[in-house]
Amino acid sequence: MLPLVPHYLAGEWRTSPELASTPVFNPSTGDVIAQCPAGGAAEVDAAVAAAQAAFPAWRETPAVERARVFFRYRQLIEQNFDRLCATVSREHGKTLSEARGDVHRGLENVEYACGVPTLLFGDTLENLARGVDCETLNQPLGVCVGITPFNFPAMVPMWMFPLALACGNTFVLKPSEKVPLTAVLLGELLEQAGLPKGVFNIVHGGRPAVDALLTHPQVRAVSFVGSTPIAKYIYETGTRHGKRVQANGGAKNYIVIMPDADIPKSVEALATAAFGCAGERCMAGSTALTVGPAAERLLPDLVAAARAIRVGRTDRPAPAPQPDMGPLISAPHRERVLGLVASGEAEGAKVVADGRNARVADAPHGFYLGATVVDGVRADMTLAREEVFGPVLNVMRMDDLDAAIAQANASAFGNGAAIFTQSGRAAREFKHRVKAGMVGINVGVPATMAMFPFTGWDDSFYGDLHIQGRAAVQFYTQQNVVTTRWFGGDVGDVWKK
Ligand code: NAD
Repeated sequence: MLPLVPHYLAGEWRTSPELASTPVFNPSTGDVIAQCPAGGAAEVDAAVAAAQAAFPAWRETPAVERARVFFRYRQLIEQNFDRLCATVSREHGKTLSEARGDVHRGLENVEYACGVPTLLFGDTLENLARGVDCETLNQPLGVCVGITPFNFPAMVPMWMFPLALACGNTFVLKPSEKVPLTAVLLGELLEQAGLPKGVFNIVHGGRPAVDALLTHPQVRAVSFVGSTPIAKYIYETGTRHGKRVQANGGAKNYIVIMPDADIPKSVEALATAAFGCAGERCMAGSTALTVGPAAERLLPDLVAAARAIRVGRTDRPAPAPQPDMGPLISAPHRERVLGLVASGEAEGAKVVADGRNARVADAPHGFYLGATVVDGVRADMTLAREEVFGPVLNVMRMDDLDAAIAQANASAFGNGAAIFTQSGRAAREFKHRVKAGMVGINVGVPATMAMFPFTGWDDSFYGDLHIQGRAAVQFYTQQNVVTTRWFGGDVGDVWKK
């Protein structure tokens, strides 16, 4: 019997064998390793009721005490680091070093949340008028919700719940049904850190669970990360039901290679940006925009670097040999990526490094695809417009920097963009004009760390206040401004004597 993944409701781990469930795969082998229950309104009602009941006491808990839970949580994550990474690698297919990155970026968000007493500082102005003082208080909202994607099973949930909870809110996490096991482990560690029952809850499932959360009258705020169509749906439905919503969507990120770029460093950065995490990253640098002669200088080394990437199983911990790249998340997703490459080829692009026949001898049913480089991609091709989310690097040849910026800016998305150049002038022009929320200058994946907001634009983000950093503190709090005046000369005696 395959293990059934438990919900976490009111501090209890509960399986619901009566519910329909979806398989959780080990993408390295194609084996099913667990069943994820398809929770719905009943599970959501139980989770939100628990979170609502736990809110008054948690809100009254001093910020320093709440922070202490996260100091302990931080330590527990470090103690269980290898276990967390192994779980991520097994259910997602990240290599061990990518899984370490996933957990580590999450850990940094826990560390940020440990600073919550200072993050919650308000402002004061004495003598706003004579004898009148003014102060702002940053107060929690109540029940907050996180709905997360498959591609960073540890980091993305930790973008949300540590800070939301540290700010004094309670929380319901609805993790991706493709990677629920990491979320369960994160919840177990939170329990061990001493978080009171009901403050944090997990409901598993897909759309029925999401819809029940989006429309629940006691949910105050929704953080979402996932694909653009769902992000838009979450934003529209959540706001229509009176919730504060931040919804990160998909992306298509461009990396401009100028003729004066350091070619070895550019190749290294492009290979990491395009093929790291098998391209399943919202900050994947999936298109190289080569300017003028840069293409001829870049391509031979780039193709060689792609061909050198070894694909393999990620479900066997060290000292077993570790591959450079793991499998994709699922068989249908692999088919979709293959279809997009085929469409580019049919429309006249040229596959110059072909990972389509990647095979792993002892795992013939794993969802593998090797690193693939497609040259001669044009703006009108589907491959150029759609998010591929696989280890595929498009090369588009541009005449000059203006054309490269115009191509990047024509994208419906606006997550990341980068330039490789030795010219300060070109870099300045790029950062000033490019339409992207996160910009790299000789940095291929300019994903932001916990103390900075994750600033997608356009179809990469719906909402006002971004995830991470001060913007997220604002998202998870509401301010009141208190204006104070005291009357009476009768107390005068106290300080006159
Ligand atoms: P997804 O949109 O399929 O799923 C995300 C979440 O939404 C999951 O929890 C899923 O259960 C739920 N969901 C799926 N379909 C739904 C529906 N019809 N109604 C309601 N809920 C639904 O995304 P994914 O495939 O898990 O993740 C990959 C996507 O996430 C990519 O597009 C990637 O770019 C994006 N992403 C964006 C960021 C960012 O910060 N911008 C970060 C990571 C991933």
